Amino acid sequence: MNYIQKSPWILHYDGSSCNGCDIEVLACLTPIYDVERFGIINTGNPKHADILLITGAVNEQNINVVKQLYDQMPNPKMVVAIGICACSGGIFSECYNVIGGVDKAIPVDVYVPGCAARPESIISGVVKALGLLEEKIAKKAS
Ligand code: SF4
Repeated sequence: MNYIQKSPWILHYDGSSCNGCDIEVLACLTPIYDVERFGIINTGNPKHADILLITGAVNEQNINVVKQLYDQMPNPKMVVAIGICACSGGIFSECYNVIGGVDKAIPVDVYVPGCAARPESIISGVVKALGLLEEKIAKKAS
């Protein structure tokens, strides 16, 4: 049974990326990839979001912002770490203020590696998150 009754709404947050992965996330919205044809909508409001996409590592300055965004999202929710920086800290992991990947701040459901992560991988990660979201909803309903 299909438990997801609405379009998945996505919130994108740039932790401390070099903007390479952010450009690829934006590319997903362009006519070439056109994720909106799958019903995926980009929102700026965490209270409307089902899936949080994060690029860049978690650092001393943004860790509380990441936690606040996550806390403001309604349950059930999914987190997708985009790019190796969001997955593990990447090339910035040795920086003085970098704590590490997004999972140092909040639970991560899907990891999308790459530097930068390709739009195809990002879309695939979101589709995987949708499947996991569906499982979560089904478990809650049973
Ligand atoms: S994974 Fe690469 S492209 Fe993406 S934010 Fe890190 S350094 Fe930039």
